[in-house]
Amino acid sequence: MILLDVKLLIPANIIMLPELNLNDIIRLRKIHPCGSYEWKVVRLGADIGLECVTCQRRVLLPRRKLARRIKAVVQHSGDNAPTAKHP
Ligand SMILES: [Zn+2]
Repeated sequence: MILLDVKLLIPANIIMLPELNLNDIIRLRKIHPCGSYEWKVVRLGADIGLECVTCQRRVLLPRRKLARRIKAVVQHSGDNAPTAKHP
């Protein structure tokens, strides 16, 4: 009987991107020259548009590239609860 490791069957270039919505705030692994790690999602498509929350600079990243750079989703725009705001 041969046992296969399931992980080996998944191509290495497929990286899961978390589900994103417009105006979500995400954190990337690399710091922006302005000193911020956080970006707002401003466009969803084949490429994802991001706007730096500190300097408002916009960039477009292909989904695969973003999947490698993203560290966490800081805030989902769908959360309209009053507790979503931090002092
Ligand atoms: Zn910036």
